Amino acid sequence: MFSKVLVANRGEIAVRIQQTLHIMGIRTVAVYSDSDTTAPHVLMADEAWALEGDSANETYLDTEKLVHIAAQSGAEAIHPGYGFLSENPLFAVACRDRGITFIGPSPESMRYLGDKIRSKQIAQQAGVVTVPSSGICNGVDEIAKAFVAQWGFPLLVKAAAGGGGRGIRLVNGGGELAQAMNSASRESQAAFGDGRVFLEHYILRPRHVEVQVLADYSGHTIHLMERECSIQRRHQKIVEETPSPALTPDLRGRMVQAAIAVAKAVGYESAGTAEFLLDPQLGEFYFLEMNARLQVEHPITEAILGLDLVEWQVRIADGESLTLAQDDVRPRGYAVECRIYAEDPYHDFAPSTGTLLQWNPPSGPGLRLDSGVARGQEVSIYYDPLLAKLVAWAPDRATGLRRMENALSRFLVLGVITNIPLLRTIMSHPQFVSGNYDIGFLECNPAVTESMVAEDFQKIADALAAWADQQPRVLSASPDATSVVAQNNPWLTSGTGRFP
Ligand code: ADP
Ligand code: ADP
Ligand code: MG
Repeated sequence: MFSKVLVANRGEIAVRIQQTLHIMGIRTVAVYSDSDTTAPHVLMADEAWALEGDSANETYLDTEKLVHIAAQSGAEAIHPGYGFLSENPLFAVACRDRGITFIGPSPESMRYLGDKIRSKQIAQQAGVVTVPSSGICNGVDEIAKAFVAQWGFPLLVKAAAGGGGRGIRLVNGGGELAQAMNSASRESQAAFGDGRVFLEHYILRPRHVEVQVLADYSGHTIHLMERECSIQRRHQKIVEETPSPALTPDLRGRMVQAAIAVAKAVGYESAGTAEFLLDPQLGEFYFLEMNARLQVEHPITEAILGLDLVEWQVRIADGESLTLAQDDVRPRGYAVECRIYAEDPYHDFAPSTGTLLQWNPPSGPGLRLDSGVARGQEVSIYYDPLLAKLVAWAPDRATGLRRMENALSRFLVLGVITNIPLLRTIMSHPQFVSGNYDIGFLECNPAVTESMVAEDFQKIADALAAWADQQPRVLSASPDATSVVAQNNPWLTSGTGRFP
């Protein structure tokens, strides 16, 4: 087994991966940008190396720097986490060239799956139904016109290399098509260095259900149940739960078999996720894409199965075969995850930056927090606004949702604005609670966002007072603690009408 592993990431996922490495007795190497010098993922590491710089491009996306540090520090393997270089086959090749193990699938699998068109072709060859789509288009060319003639509007323009909801545009009529293709292409070129786009049939209000798979290097492939991820904003997941309230045993059986078929068709290895769009009325589902990495929402799978997915990724990368049989995968209970983002739900979810004056997460039975921040830390504009993920486990869904709502209500954050009020509102919304919802839940119910619960002002006032007590120097510089905090919490003075 490896004795030292470099984690090429930051935030909650870099913390999460190191937790498992430490338990496995593996020493960890963290890397950090200038603004992450004192971040939790750095402080917990056995050693930490500076990447020098702040932008993602000069730090966590710099292949050369990362591979060089791995070699210098004597790390035998690199775990890429998710995002950043996790789905970049060139990074996996650069690791391989230096004799460093990349903890994830082979560059060959990544090449197949990183391209949404190629992965659909593989799925079709494996007998799995995919969302109807065109080939790569060069503007509104013959390929695009033929697709529009066959499928009509609305349709989606998608970037072949897209991810995280980027490079997707909804088009309702021919007049908007050229412009949408242009802007999706530009966005993808900037984010992923690849501007290729294609058209995809728009499925009206489906559910997003995905299947976790695990495969070793000798072809043994199993599934680890599904995750329901239909609560999204701008095609970005914010709440995930498992089991999915939409799957009958028959549907689940067909969907997990489809996921395994796609994984086997590419000769997949490590942990991966096959995403599907489900039409609950028809009982049909369509393969969307396969993510060749650890998924943000993997903790809910761990919660119902009692497994550690990072441990399995490391063991598989080390050449161990998967001793876990499909029959050993026995779900127990229910789990839900809420993504805590630094964004302002009262102002169109604008990114929120500042110093975390207070960071008091809840604890209690069945709760798990994956967090990458700590009190006093600066939340900057440079990276993804995901601060933490809160997971609640319970024997049944109703109890799980109550646990989550209660935990969110006790989660105190001062200094940056978070989407916690929106998450609380969703947890107790009758339609979400009924389980009968789809990917249009937030967009089609503007009332959900408009009726968002207001923050608890007494709690905030008490926290402000406690914070002020601990800040004599700040106070002498500025006699009014509230004004200091207000600067860091614009919503306290922003006149949304919700504050006393
Ligand atoms: P998941 O599918 O695991 O829920 P998301 O799609 O929300 O994950 O993306 C996870 C993270 O990875 C986000 O920070 C997102 O911005 C980033 N990301 C997703 N796909 C890519 C990609 N192809 N290249 C770079 N970053 C990506
Ligand atoms: P990404 O790589 O950014 O994750 P996906 O192709 O997985 O992109 O799509 C992200 C989300 O966009 C899906 O979860 C779904 O909500 C929505 N979406 C994608 N394709 C379609 C489609 N053909 N019809 C309707 N909604 C879609
Ligand atoms: Mg996706």
